[in-house]
Amino acid sequence: MRQLLSGHGASRGNALGRARVRHPHALEVAEERIPAEAVDAEIERMHEAIALVQAEMQAMRQRLHGALAQEIGEFIDMHALLLDDPELLQGLDQLIRQARFSADYALRLQRDRLAGVFEAMDDPYLRSRIDDIDHVIGRLHAALHRRDADLQGVAGEILVADNVAPSELVQLQAQGVMAIVTAAGSTLSHSAILARSMHLPLVVGAAQALHAINDGDVLVVDGASGLLVVEPNADDLRAYRNRLREEKRERKQLYRLRREPSRTLDGVDIKLFANAESREDVAEAHALGAAGVGLYRTEFLFLQRSELPDEEEQFRAYRDVAIGMTGRAVTIRTLDVGADKADRTGLALTNEPNPALGLRGVRLSLARQDVFETQLRAILRASGYGPVRILVPMITNREEMLAVKRLIKRVTADLRSEGHEIGENIPLGAMIEVPAAAIALPSIIGTVDFISVGTNDLVQYLLATDRGNEALGDLHTPLHPAVLRLLFEVIRTAKRRGKPVAVCGEMAGDPLFTPLLLALGLEEFSLHPGTLLEVRRAIRANDLAALRGNARALLRARDRDAIEDWLRKVSSGGIAAAGH
Ligand code: PEP
Ligand code: MG
Repeated sequence: MRQLLSGHGASRGNALGRARVRHPHALEVAEERIPAEAVDAEIERMHEAIALVQAEMQAMRQRLHGALAQEIGEFIDMHALLLDDPELLQGLDQLIRQARFSADYALRLQRDRLAGVFEAMDDPYLRSRIDDIDHVIGRLHAALHRRDADLQGVAGEILVADNVAPSELVQLQAQGVMAIVTAAGSTLSHSAILARSMHLPLVVGAAQALHAINDGDVLVVDGASGLLVVEPNADDLRAYRNRLREEKRERKQLYRLRREPSRTLDGVDIKLFANAESREDVAEAHALGAAGVGLYRTEFLFLQRSELPDEEEQFRAYRDVAIGMTGRAVTIRTLDVGADKADRTGLALTNEPNPALGLRGVRLSLARQDVFETQLRAILRASGYGPVRILVPMITNREEMLAVKRLIKRVTADLRSEGHEIGENIPLGAMIEVPAAAIALPSIIGTVDFISVGTNDLVQYLLATDRGNEALGDLHTPLHPAVLRLLFEVIRTAKRRGKPVAVCGEMAGDPLFTPLLLALGLEEFSLHPGTLLEVRRAIRANDLAALRGNARALLRARDRDAIEDWLRKVSSGGIAAAGH
């Protein structure tokens, strides 16, 4: 039956496909007993589900090719191994045969038992393997309820799940998943950032999705508006096709701007750098005329695997970005795992009570100098192939910057003595995303060559609103007077000291915010290439002097409504009026 559902659009794009529902592991299954005569059939049902999931994994393994095959293959092999585990399998049979539990409940008991064993382990890496058990058990549970077995292995599926981890996304896309819908999640999470980078449509916060959608239902997903249609009718299909056509037309129009400068109406050139997470991003950034890469999040190299990437592997990845940008600046951010970027290598602690306030970003790098040094060696070696800049995440104070500088100096000397070609005067920058660093910027700025403002985290910490918590609704927003005033001060301090300043949070990639950032004095943006041309179009439609003349009115705004009012006036061309 046709239904309309809605969530938040987190990664644009339209998709039509069949739902693959993944329930949040088999945990919510109530205790259920079956009569003695149903035992054999229930065991048979369980075995069929196991065989189905095994076949599914094998098929997935065979479909893999290219650079990702090894990494993802490892992941799948491990899950296949869990499925072969005699303890798991015999345990399930026993629970059904002897205790006469339903297959579902047996699955839940086995999940809880295995999870208990892992939870009791001291090793944080082994503890983190509970996720793998949940993944496998979740698949088995889905297989037990598959309405339509021929859905297997068919490309064109839309995953409907409670949530999705950044580490899963590549695997899901390799499987042929067309779009993802999650009941939880936020548009600022790293999964959302990665999905945008992969051009994988994503709708988050569709609270009803898991109840309302069944495996095999046909879905139309609009990743921009967050609207979902379950079992679309003819009108919906027409509207979907129209949106596809509209999307294509708009892309074509925007594409004409790829060779145009990012110049305001009054002739000021604004620099647009790209946030690039993959080779495809780098190629796209280059083709669209980005000034360089303003943020290369290295942690994505660390997420889909169980072992740390060594110096050589990292070097090759960074070198390829430097080469790919053909002489334009490439800003490589040092590792920022922790909080919602939980890795599988065991590097980030998994038992911190407050991970967002814990050992993450530069704090983790300074605590694990072996890992940091390996990364710095790789980045510095890449600097022999193009103008590389180093950016340090989660800086809180001056001492951290000084410690990083000392280490870079030593590693550079080591590398030169080993005969490596290292760039001269590699610019070093700090991410300004902790309020203390923003407020105390005058004391930190002397230690850096440039800064980049991470508004995703800055807003999170300034407004005490978890960037990934959908329950907070609109509270995580840059449209707050405190955020605007702090941004204004940060930009002004950097410019007075002659240091380049960019904003690289998601805010910089939203054309709605472009006039606001320009009014606050920003002249460098770093954003995902997916919206680069839209932001360029917004820049070209604005008069910088007029916007700056209205900055005071913006800074006087007392609440979100007043800020939105200012934006509306500016966007409707009533800019002169906005100041009065
Ligand atoms: C930010 O915090 O704004 C940022 C760009 O870094 P990340 O999103 O990777 O935390
Ligand atoms: Mg950040």
